[in-house]
Amino acid sequence: MYNNDFKNKLLNICDNVKFDEPMHKHTTFRIGGNADFYVSVSSEKEITEVIKLCKLENVRFYIIGNGSNLLVKDEGFRGVIIEIGNGYADIEEIDDETFAAKGGILLSRIAAYALEHELSGFEPLSGIPGTLGGAVVMNAGAYGGEIKDVVTEVYVLDCDGNKKTISNKDMEFGYRTSLATKESLIILGAKIKLKKGNRDEIKVLMSDFNGRRRDKQPLEFPSAGSTFKRPEGYFAGKLIEDSNLKGYTVGGAQVSEKHSGFVINIGNATCEDVLKLISDVQKKVYEDSGVELEREVKILE
Ligand SMILES: Cc1cc2nc3c(=O)[nH]c(=O)nc-3n(C[C@H](O)[C@H](O)[C@H](O)COP(=O)(O)OP(=O)(O)OC[C@H]3O[C@@H](n4cnc5c(N)ncnc54)[C@H](O)[C@@H]3O)c2cc1C
Repeated sequence: MYNNDFKNKLLNICDNVKFDEPMHKHTTFRIGGNADFYVSVSSEKEITEVIKLCKLENVRFYIIGNGSNLLVKDEGFRGVIIEIGNGYADIEEIDDETFAAKGGILLSRIAAYALEHELSGFEPLSGIPGTLGGAVVMNAGAYGGEIKDVVTEVYVLDCDGNKKTISNKDMEFGYRTSLATKESLIILGAKIKLKKGNRDEIKVLMSDFNGRRRDKQPLEFPSAGSTFKRPEGYFAGKLIEDSNLKGYTVGGAQVSEKHSGFVINIGNATCEDVLKLISDVQKKVYEDSGVELEREVKILE
């Protein structure tokens, strides 16, 4: 399936290559079979060259950040997983209120930077457990804020490997969606603009939002956050609860008792368990309320 020296060519580009890597180690759901190749990149050059090589050799590739919105199939992935994470995560100050951050940085690290520099506007996003790249793709948001509110421009590689800067307006941010999904863009980073604030007030807001998460969300179990998007005019969790599905279990996957909008892994859940549970929930909620629940969690097939 792979050209004989594909492995060596990958190793020539990047030191951090793993073979037959269990994907449950790289997803917050703790689910997923093995990926043939798993590359953690640390420079734009590595990202570009790995992608070029995959295209040349006709090998599939898939980008992941922190794996916090991702369900990986039990069969794993035949191809190369490219992790834009910890190794590609610097921040560079531009001026008092503006900085550029690389795609692999965690939102919690940006929040720490904002606090340290007394910058306000990032507080609602501070507890989302993803990378900047993942947040831009998903237009991640919480407590009335979304990544689109703070990002002024996004640095990407398009599917031909060309580097581009895309303005906020042209990113077509919508509810849990952006141009990145539509055009398979690779997020290299973004420019973020916040405003000067008061350190104590920023700190209080961040801990308030994070406290609310701890109170309401089943953070003690592996999950990928909210399983479904919020249907217009409803709350997914409430619809699921009204359908008496709180605690509904398939194998090791369960509708959380604490927050019905979360599917959790209560022990050795397989991707198949989660998919069956999701489809049962969608079916029952539709029968009871006529509302179609759309999945927010991405599936790596
Ligand atoms: C406990 C918990 C709470 C959560 N709370 C929230 C919340 O409040 N609000 C919210 O919006 N989400 C929430 N999430 C979901 C998740 O954290 C977000 O969707 C986050 O933005 C995903 O980022 P990631 O780096 O983990 O992306 P991944 O899960 O690794 O990837 C998600 C998608 O983005 C793509 N992607 C990732 N990085 C890049 C890149 N650099 N370039 C191109 N494509 C890329 C992947 O291919 C995939 O399609 C929560 C998840 C958990 C587990």
